[in-house]
Amino acid sequence: MSPAVDAELEKIQNFEGKYPKQLWYLFLSEMWERFSFYGMRGMLTIFMTDKLLLTEKEANLQYGATQAFVYTLAFVGGLFADKILGFRKSIFWGGFLMILGSFILAYDPVNLFYWGISFTIIGTGFFKPNISTMVGQLYRQGDTRKDAGFGLFYSGINIGALFGGALCVDIGKHHSWNAAFSLAGIVMTISLLIFIFTKRTLGPIGLSPIRLKFTPKKIKMIDLAVYLGSLLVIPAIFVLVKNTKYTDLFMYTVGPLTLLYILYEMTQMNKKDREKMVAALIFIIFSIFFWAFFEQAGGSLNLFAAHNLTDNVLGIKIDPNVINNSSNSAFVIMFSPIVGLLWLWLAKRKMEPNTTVKFGLGFMFLAGAFYVFYLTRFYTDGHGIASLNVFTVAYLVITIGELCLSPIGLSIMTSLSPQRLHGVMMGMWFLASAYGQYAAGILGAGMAPINDKASLSEKLISYTDGYKQLAIYGLVSGIVLILISKLVKKLMHEVH
Ligand code: GLN
Repeated sequence: MSPAVDAELEKIQNFEGKYPKQLWYLFLSEMWERFSFYGMRGMLTIFMTDKLLLTEKEANLQYGATQAFVYTLAFVGGLFADKILGFRKSIFWGGFLMILGSFILAYDPVNLFYWGISFTIIGTGFFKPNISTMVGQLYRQGDTRKDAGFGLFYSGINIGALFGGALCVDIGKHHSWNAAFSLAGIVMTISLLIFIFTKRTLGPIGLSPIRLKFTPKKIKMIDLAVYLGSLLVIPAIFVLVKNTKYTDLFMYTVGPLTLLYILYEMTQMNKKDREKMVAALIFIIFSIFFWAFFEQAGGSLNLFAAHNLTDNVLGIKIDPNVINNSSNSAFVIMFSPIVGLLWLWLAKRKMEPNTTVKFGLGFMFLAGAFYVFYLTRFYTDGHGIASLNVFTVAYLVITIGELCLSPIGLSIMTSLSPQRLHGVMMGMWFLASAYGQYAAGILGAGMAPINDKASLSEKLISYTDGYKQLAIYGLVSGIVLILISKLVKKLMHEVH
């Protein structure tokens, strides 16, 4: 980097106070993007079973596939950003594709469903990891304010998810699906406009890594090739989501290949950097399991909510799918500052758990939450309709688990990897989500009643049996993490 560029970056990273001002812009842009994303996510299984007339099993699998591709392409999006486009152009292109996808769905959701979804999948891949990486780059290596920055950013994610998750499904179910998908498109446009109007404050952060290597004309050609290439992938995504057996093949190949690539990169590093990458990989692998359970939210829990729950929380009438889609986000917004303060309070007393123990705690809460989902079967009206209050408590518990793991995961991806791999590692973090989502679909389909004409009581038993199993696996994972925490701490060196 030139000295002028260095100085500009230093000026950003030397910010005073708790948060850099650029964080607020990225926060807003991500907030609207997540509104659109979670709005869509919350509609998928309901739309698939109600309008596309898929069985619950098929809906679970196709839902898992769409989400798996979203996050797999986040890895690809991170890679292209690191090597060619830079974060800014990637975000622009991704946002643009997401807008197109939403409006395709708004135009004709039944007939163009898989086309619209394919555009948004590719778009999210370019957008999502890169905005998170830019947050990481606002901080100098070792700046202790970074975790708090990601905590705030995570609240932005969830404010968007809260309103998107609640409004879209409500409009779709009770008014019009076209309007619900249009809303997703409109808010995504707001997200992109915010990014476009504020990106000049980012100094050199997110510029293309090849901008000094080639002539502007050549760079335009290369960019164009990436854009065209990504458009060509859309029909492939279309086929893969529709035929989930191809998804299996794709998932079996992509993970091992990316792992090989990371291992190759690791052979080029010194021992200390390599060990830090090993620690990052351990977190990434555990997070796969976390998301596989957690992401029942958009799949099996959404269907469970649609059929097996009352519409009453603490005496207030509310659609159970709205609770399913939004309570998690509402709890993140409420509890994220409290959990942040708790870590600080513990840190002052030299009692703050290290990252691995926090991950372990994340799993313990996850296990507790699934146990509460299981318990819903004991709070019913006798005809298979269970208490929405108990279900909401489970979301509270799962959220505490998420806060022990997810924002911290984002933050350490940029702390544990060298700068030239920031985008890829953030992509790897999301790739773990992809595998989680994929497994979530399979797990959800396994829990779904075999017979779609099953009675409500049979459905209740079928899903809650599955949740009990997940509680046990979650508990075991948490214990393993806590047992290996000393070893991982060593691998992380000074990062904690
Ligand atoms: N809820 C977070 C987000 O939307 C984490 C998602 C994930 O990594 N699976 O960014």
